[in-house]
Amino acid sequence: MIIGKIALTGSPNVGKSTVFNALTGMKQHTGNWSGKTVGSAEGTVKNGKKEIKLIDLPGTYSLSADSAEEEVTRNFLCFEKFEGAVVLCDACSLERNLIFALQVAQLVPKTVLCVNMLDDARKKGIEIDISALSRETGLPAIGISAANGEGIGELKKMMFELAEGKLSADFKPLRYPKSIDDLVSAVRPVLEKEFGTSGVFPVFEISKNEHGFVAEFEKRFGKLSENQNLSTVLSGITVPSDFPDKISACIALRAEEICLSAVSFSSNKSCSRDEKIDSVLTGKLFGIPVMLALFGFIFWLTVSGANYPSQLLSEAFSWVGIRLESFLSGFGFPPMLKSLFIDGIWNVLSWVVAVMLPPMAIFFPLFTILEDIGYLPRVAFNLDRGFGFAGACGKQALTMCMGIGCGAVGVTGARIIDSPRERLIAIITNSFMPCNGRLPAIIALITMFFTGSSVLGALILTLAVAFSVLMTLLVSKILSKTVLKGVPASFTLELPPYRLPKFGKVIIRSVFDRTLKILGRAVLVAVPAGIIIWLCSNFSFGGNTIFEIFAAVLNPFAKLFGLDGNILCGFIFSLPANEIALPIMAMGYSGGTLTELGSLSETARLFSENGFTPVTALCTIVFFLFHWPCATTIITVFKETKSAKWVFASVLVPLLTGFSICFIINIVSKLFC
Ligand code: GDP
Repeated sequence: MIIGKIALTGSPNVGKSTVFNALTGMKQHTGNWSGKTVGSAEGTVKNGKKEIKLIDLPGTYSLSADSAEEEVTRNFLCFEKFEGAVVLCDACSLERNLIFALQVAQLVPKTVLCVNMLDDARKKGIEIDISALSRETGLPAIGISAANGEGIGELKKMMFELAEGKLSADFKPLRYPKSIDDLVSAVRPVLEKEFGTSGVFPVFEISKNEHGFVAEFEKRFGKLSENQNLSTVLSGITVPSDFPDKISACIALRAEEICLSAVSFSSNKSCSRDEKIDSVLTGKLFGIPVMLALFGFIFWLTVSGANYPSQLLSEAFSWVGIRLESFLSGFGFPPMLKSLFIDGIWNVLSWVVAVMLPPMAIFFPLFTILEDIGYLPRVAFNLDRGFGFAGACGKQALTMCMGIGCGAVGVTGARIIDSPRERLIAIITNSFMPCNGRLPAIIALITMFFTGSSVLGALILTLAVAFSVLMTLLVSKILSKTVLKGVPASFTLELPPYRLPKFGKVIIRSVFDRTLKILGRAVLVAVPAGIIIWLCSNFSFGGNTIFEIFAAVLNPFAKLFGLDGNILCGFIFSLPANEIALPIMAMGYSGGTLTELGSLSETARLFSENGFTPVTALCTIVFFLFHWPCATTIITVFKETKSAKWVFASVLVPLLTGFSICFIINIVSKLFC
């Protein structure tokens, strides 16, 4: 039986997802950087037969709704019906987090103050006196360490008491400057008369009256009559321009006062440790070289580790394929159907799994460790100057990191960028980052045509990704000087403390959330794609298969860019998922049968026999980096921008970039070779 609804809120990176998961048993994404959760999640907390609905709201620093996440949180706290709120604070940054907690408590008098990461605080010599905190704020308070489960049971108990109205709060409202009190007394009676929501609309919200608050209010409650209209009420009041500042100062002062009596320090060891690490990892001299070396190392581990398991997997698949074929023959399967199943579906499927799985299984856990340690925001920090120069936002570096995982995730992640102009730049250039579908294909091409050495392979791959980053900056600059003119907005990027990664979680998240999910999608796409490709390669008109006709038509055009018709067909047919581009090309070259497609060296021979040179390989790698996003990402761009124009731009911009670079490579190679 559901007895109530509780909101879980707090600033980014204070452990909300960890607490939410611990309470509900769900598996929300946790990560050591702000902005990774941009929507709210809902779960159930059980206690015997009683249940509470827990809403995990996106992390925000204030309720002034300066960004999409803040708007979601503000709208929920202002307009939804719920029994109470739990505001989570990080024990190591209590004063800053308390500012937000005090704002929430103005809105929701039934608020529990929950101080998380006590374990971290202890290590840093920070002590929190929970009862002093409760006494000073007048709110029920509790201290926990969500990561190791400390205090979760007690928090759960408090939440049930909160939902049942058994927990008393004696919240001490802030002492606003006198003029603000006047404002409250002018507006509150109108709201109370109409809605009976005494105390629900805090003064700082009303005084700001912006970011769609009035619109949201009227959308939910309907337009009010002339004399009750909120806009009229608000426009009748002269709000001094320094009101929000005064209120913020007032809240900050109170937070400081509270911390003076509730927080004590014995030493500051880990803070100085973090500062020392940061002086190297984000320093002017070493920041970028260390970043390149770190990614180079990860790519090296990926390239060197992937070859052998790839080989084993493809041998295993071909072993099973041979048995499957004789099994089907034994059943008297018509040869045509058997060929469709084995040469089409089975071979594309085995290629996708054999080539994609090993690099993903190595790269994703390593990348997730970087995320968990807290390194990704440092990447954004290091690249911020470059993005500022390009007229874009440094947070774009984070959406690019998400794009390495999956283009669609990168596009959705662009919500963390507040300015719509900068968000569009991030969305349009997002596909410049090689997603997991393209990364293994690029690795395969490097191994097949440039070097068998994993060190050199990793170096080439690092250069390729660094080139993508440079192109992202260049194209962002062009966009910000032309269609998306403007100056970069300032933003706050929190550099979280370095934390030891939780290896169990890293494995679970990278294997289940990323590798298997993405592989599943690739497999789902590979089956119908295998059928279509097989049909296109086996049905002919005038002696030529459909695929050959397509390839022949595209060939003269493709040749201008150092590619050929077959390669371009591979890219076009792989619109549903980039993962299947290489197998389609291989299938095209082998005339529809992929029986020989076992190892990378065999594939390289097949490609070479069809005129594939190192220059072709280079152009294909470039085109892998810069062409259109996959279908899922295109749909996501539409969902995020609601505009066909920007979808068109996000297809056209990478495509033009890819064609231009390939054209230049082709011309230069012709001049020198
Ligand atoms: P959210 O952004 O508020 O949802 O925060 P997350 O739940 O994603 O947590 C941010 C980071 O803090 C993750 O790396 C967590 O593993 C870590 N974390 C969460 N709770 C604790 C805790 O009690 N102690 C420590 N040391 N780390 C924690």
